Amino acid sequence: MKIYLDGIFVEKEDAKISVFDHGLLYGDGVFEGIRAYNGRIFRLKEHLERLWSSAKAINLTISIGQKEMEKAVIKTLIVNKFLDAYIRLIVTRGSGSLGLSPKGCVPSIIIIADHISLYPEESYDKGMEVVTVSTRKIRQDSLSPNIKSLNYLNNVLARMQAIKSGAMEAVMLNAEGYVVECSGDNIFLVKKGILYTPSSTDGALIGITRDAVMEIARNKLKLTVKEERISTYDVYTAAECFLTGTAAEIIPVIAVDSRQIADGKPGNITLELMKEFKNLTRSTGTPIK
Ligand code: PMP
Repeated sequence: MKIYLDGIFVEKEDAKISVFDHGLLYGDGVFEGIRAYNGRIFRLKEHLERLWSSAKAINLTISIGQKEMEKAVIKTLIVNKFLDAYIRLIVTRGSGSLGLSPKGCVPSIIIIADHISLYPEESYDKGMEVVTVSTRKIRQDSLSPNIKSLNYLNNVLARMQAIKSGAMEAVMLNAEGYVVECSGDNIFLVKKGILYTPSSTDGALIGITRDAVMEIARNKLKLTVKEERISTYDVYTAAECFLTGTAAEIIPVIAVDSRQIADGKPGNITLELMKEFKNLTRSTGTPIK
């Protein structure tokens, strides 16, 4: 496996960065998780836009332009001969002194292309159980949820807590106690035929998959979609529930905190969205060649 590291391709074993990199020392850096399906990279431009916005928000200058980054991502897939892949694009603050100040750091760009299967195949057919956890989302007046930074510690703690209680994903609440998203996925509910998802102002990341699902729901399935404040009560009493994310795609949720969602089977709208999302990922995207 070849890794892109600051403009050159190196073997996985040689893909190393400095222990003085502020990405390691302080989680100071930004990233994206992107997917390629059958030789096309899904919503690459949107991912790069978000990466640039994350970088801008933390005052980090990416040394190359978006067009060049697009080429670098494509090249990473070509040199690894991948048509289907999960791509991890990272920009670290770079190596500097041990202090917090990024003065003197020169940002590094890393692109890893690999395969990922986040949840077992069976969970996509039968749905999965999730739990709410005590680790809260970081308040957006401290750190915007839209900065995909290398500091994912609260999400990691949330995921660990979920796994300890026998679930694969954690539902996270904001400081006010409203449902926001999961540790690595956005959350959706269906109630009386309307699709609901927490808004960015309540702390949700504007997920690329979330956007795609909202578009499909509005344009293809002609559903009303609302970004609204959601409580755990709303989740427990929903007719359908599912999660979205680049790695997860769309996964049905059939129980939350031991409350079965409706009849405990993936809902019809969820199944319809899964089908349409699959069509979309297989028919659009930036071609590798
Ligand atoms: N929320 C969080 C906290 C995430 O890390 C992710 C994965 N990037 C998502 C939601 C889903 O976003 P996307 O659809 O862009 O992958």
